[in-house]
Amino acid sequence: MVIKPKIRGFICTNSHPVGCAENVKRQVDWVKQQPKIENGPKNVLVIGCSTGYGLASRITAAFGSGADTLGVCFEKEPTEKRTGTAGWYNTAAFHQQAEEADLNYHSINGDAFSDEIKQQSIDYIKQHMGKIDLVVYSLASPKRKDPETGELFSSVLKPVGKQYTTKTYHTDRDEVHEVTLDPATDEDIENTIKVMGGEDWERWIKQLHDAGVLAKNCQTTAYTYIGKKLTWPIYGHATIGRAKEDLDRASSALDDTYQDINLKAYVSSLKALVTQASSAIPVMPLYISLIYKVMKEEGTHEGCIEQIYRLFTEGLYADSPELDDAGRLHMDGYETNEATQAKIEALWDRVTQDNFHELADYEGYHQDFLRLFGFGFENVDYDADVNPKVNW
Ligand code: NAD
Repeated sequence: MVIKPKIRGFICTNSHPVGCAENVKRQVDWVKQQPKIENGPKNVLVIGCSTGYGLASRITAAFGSGADTLGVCFEKEPTEKRTGTAGWYNTAAFHQQAEEADLNYHSINGDAFSDEIKQQSIDYIKQHMGKIDLVVYSLASPKRKDPETGELFSSVLKPVGKQYTTKTYHTDRDEVHEVTLDPATDEDIENTIKVMGGEDWERWIKQLHDAGVLAKNCQTTAYTYIGKKLTWPIYGHATIGRAKEDLDRASSALDDTYQDINLKAYVSSLKALVTQASSAIPVMPLYISLIYKVMKEEGTHEGCIEQIYRLFTEGLYADSPELDDAGRLHMDGYETNEATQAKIEALWDRVTQDNFHELADYEGYHQDFLRLFGFGFENVDYDADVNPKVNW
């Protein structure tokens, strides 16, 4: 099958196995070139391991610290006629790289919110890994089925308090236009917290702890985006921000509850980057294409892998990591500092459909977007016939 990108709205509905493998390889190669992570993790569980920040976490743990990794993800398997999701191919490529490097690895494909998948993970850890010393929680999902009641909750991306009109960028149509978002109801906020808040993170840690598979001094982290003024109305102070605040509650509760193993739970604030999750959030594609422009000029641009390698070396495995007042780790300072934000705000005020390609890093944004799905790599032959049916 010859596979060309099929972009629909903010998503690409197919993916390229060879390009996804190239995406993983580049991240692995980059980590291999960095110094080994001192006193890094050895037995790692990554929940949401197949794309974006979770994939980068798995790669960093494995290739930066020689860790055995168990990954959990929710991806679609390919058939002879239909490509799998990018996360499927990324996971297959990760397995291959780990195999070649003689690292132990295993992945479980299924709903991480369910107790079945938690139990499968625990069973695997008991049989093959012993005890886990790092749990990375990197899920981004629009819905969650409550494992106790069976009720399905959907998250929404809406402002809180009042209607909000702003600019946004339509990836598919290459168009900057205005968007008006209605305020969330109380129910919307509660549902979003239910999906993207800390409850499931706590449930994972409880079940892992009760099964005796967490090592003494185990660390766990969940990822957040805090951002600044430009994104607060739709992110930080919006429904998703409320859910992320709930992660702060959960991290304190986890520290308090699992003192017997001296568990350390961190919320880690990362920079805005093109991922499947962020592409779906109104405002973010436009904001990200502007920060790419400014941060590349400043020489501070980073992708997922650079962010996560720094999180491990300067945060999770540093002797005395810097924490904010809420006890969070921050890798987002190059984006959120005042000088950089002032430049981005100035561009934001000026950007229109007509000057978008000139003011924003349109090419950089698009290239990263395509690469999420394995397209846009200059060394991949996209006219070649490839077999979409890749197994792992
Ligand atoms: P992503 O869409 O690239 O990755 C999501 C991962 O979750 C995938 O591995 C997917 O398979 C998995 N997943 C989703 N639903 C699942 C389910 N029910 N069961 C098992 N696995 C499931 O997203 P991302 O941008 O890497 O986001 C990861 C975390 O990082 C999120 O908490 C997000 O808020 C946070 N974050 C993202 C950004 C950004 O700009 N992208 C910035 C800061 C923080």
